[in-house]
Amino acid sequence: MSKKQKKILLRIIISAVLLIGVYFIPLEGYLKLLLFLIPYAVIGWDILWRAVRNITHGQIFDENFLMSVATIGAFCIGEYPEAVFVMLFYQVGELFQSYAVGKSRKSIASLMDIRPDYANIEENGELKQVDPDEVKIGDTIIVKAGERIPLDGIVSEGTSMVNTSALTGESVPRKVTVNDDVISGCVNEEGVLKVQVTKEFGESTVAKILELVENSASKKAKAENFITKFAKYYTPCVVIGAVLLAIIPPLLFSGLWSEWINRALIFLVISCPCALVISVPMSFFGGIGGASKCGILVKGGNYLEALAKTEIVVFDKTGTLTKGVFNVTAVHPENCTESQLVEYAAMAENYSNHPIAKSIKEAYVKNIDQSRIKDTQEVSGKGVNAVIDGQNVSVGNDKLMESLGVNWHPCHKIGTTVHIAVNNVYAGHIVISDEVKKDSQQAIKNLKKEGVKKTVMLTGDSNAVGKAVGESLGLDEIHTELMPADKVNCVEKLINEKSEKGTLAFVGDGINDAPVLSRADIGIAMGAMGSDAAIEAADIVLMDDKPSKIPVAIRIAKGTLKIVKQNIAFALGVKAVVLVLGALGIANMWLAVFADVGVAVIAIINAMRALNTNKYLSN
Ligand code: ADP
Ligand code: MG
Repeated sequence: MSKKQKKILLRIIISAVLLIGVYFIPLEGYLKLLLFLIPYAVIGWDILWRAVRNITHGQIFDENFLMSVATIGAFCIGEYPEAVFVMLFYQVGELFQSYAVGKSRKSIASLMDIRPDYANIEENGELKQVDPDEVKIGDTIIVKAGERIPLDGIVSEGTSMVNTSALTGESVPRKVTVNDDVISGCVNEEGVLKVQVTKEFGESTVAKILELVENSASKKAKAENFITKFAKYYTPCVVIGAVLLAIIPPLLFSGLWSEWINRALIFLVISCPCALVISVPMSFFGGIGGASKCGILVKGGNYLEALAKTEIVVFDKTGTLTKGVFNVTAVHPENCTESQLVEYAAMAENYSNHPIAKSIKEAYVKNIDQSRIKDTQEVSGKGVNAVIDGQNVSVGNDKLMESLGVNWHPCHKIGTTVHIAVNNVYAGHIVISDEVKKDSQQAIKNLKKEGVKKTVMLTGDSNAVGKAVGESLGLDEIHTELMPADKVNCVEKLINEKSEKGTLAFVGDGINDAPVLSRADIGIAMGAMGSDAAIEAADIVLMDDKPSKIPVAIRIAKGTLKIVKQNIAFALGVKAVVLVLGALGIANMWLAVFADVGVAVIAIINAMRALNTNKYLSN
């Protein structure tokens, strides 16, 4: 319990004891009123104060106002104990709510408990623990078995299994060894690892994820905004209703004034909209927390809402539906040797992050002497140009060759062909091929099950390769040989095709598809384990590379929205019934407070169910 909560609890106890004491003192008239005002002031001064302050700020109709008017009114008609009790019970409810909210926030925070406390560095042969913030790029840190990896880096010594479950929800640890990348936030399970740090803590995967989750609450879903707006109009309406209820019946039917004022006050207490105002954002918060347990980071409630209505899913090919890890299947040099051709290609690709570049560098095996490379230029959707040993080397697809006027020719082998030209003279090509991810096909099937009407693949790769991959996966539409700008056009066309309320999601790996990620209704980035661009440009980030997480995300979104709707319907329903009972004079003040606080508590407990997302993971 926080300090603030303890203080309120203390006030509740003092006020309750005073109330009981005062109740048994046999006094009448003003003295009695004065005595009851003591426990009232103890428990209610802050509510009264807030009501006054908000009125001076022009925000008249909030729950503080409702409670103040209702209780002061009760004093006016001589219902002293009731007045104090209503305030007391309201505070008990508030305390309970703040406790429940705090608790669920904490449980989400502990899910995201990936912030490392320290990093081990070696100094004069001794291990020293330092703040991860103090470690610089290029430093070597030591991660012992059982410790969380504090910073992103490359393993320079040791072999181990690392557990990535906090980031991806994946329970099977992955094996890492020398030269493998490791990501902060994962846990080293076995051996000792020496890791050469590649990013400062502020730029590390962990820091980025934490920032993202912390900011997610600021992106409101439509339902949340609706509730805020609704409360703004709803409360004054209720106040007017209460005033009419207090005045009209006694005037028309010469009823008892105090009787109708009492009913009006009860009406006011019941109408407090806090159950809605609290439980709707709580449900979204729960859904976001639950999704992150499955390795799906959602940047705001609005994206969960959009995801639940997904009608079209558009995939990038390389690195999204395929592994993005190419094997070299043929090297066909012209006027040079095979090893020369691969060397040119690898050096030109040295600074590129494209999956093709990574694969060619891997095929080269040898270390690259960076001093021989000058002026690298990446042409997105086409390839790279670089100056190597003073020669202009171009590596890329037929479009790149055409644009340079190189006399290239196609290859008979099926696969992605990477052409190489030196000083604009054709030097041959390397054929590489990618593998489809294991779960791509299942992902497409499950998307259909979730009611997605159309699945589309976009790729910059050749028609032969694109068609082969797309058809084997059963996609509805396949578009090939696209430049990044063409992908944006394609997505725009599809957005026009879909129905008014449906949404379009684009799934990419964040490498040269950032414009499309931001153009789509929902941008989903794959494999945050590798690329920073992905975390920035996307609305939803899948921590692992699995396309099968997309239908899971849709299920979570639908589940969350269902809970939101249940809460709205439940709260409004109970309120409506009790409001009618109150107007008819059947409900008393006790029932009114109970309806308000009770509904809020039940709605919050229901909202917590959104956190429970494990059930969505199974196939
Ligand atoms: P995808 O749509 O498959 O993700 P991209 O738009 O990233 O493909 O790239 C389209 C095509 O451009 C690739 O298939 C490749 O032929 C060429 N290309 C892009 N970047 C590079 C690079 N760094 N090296 C070689 N070829 C490249
Ligand atoms: Mg791509």
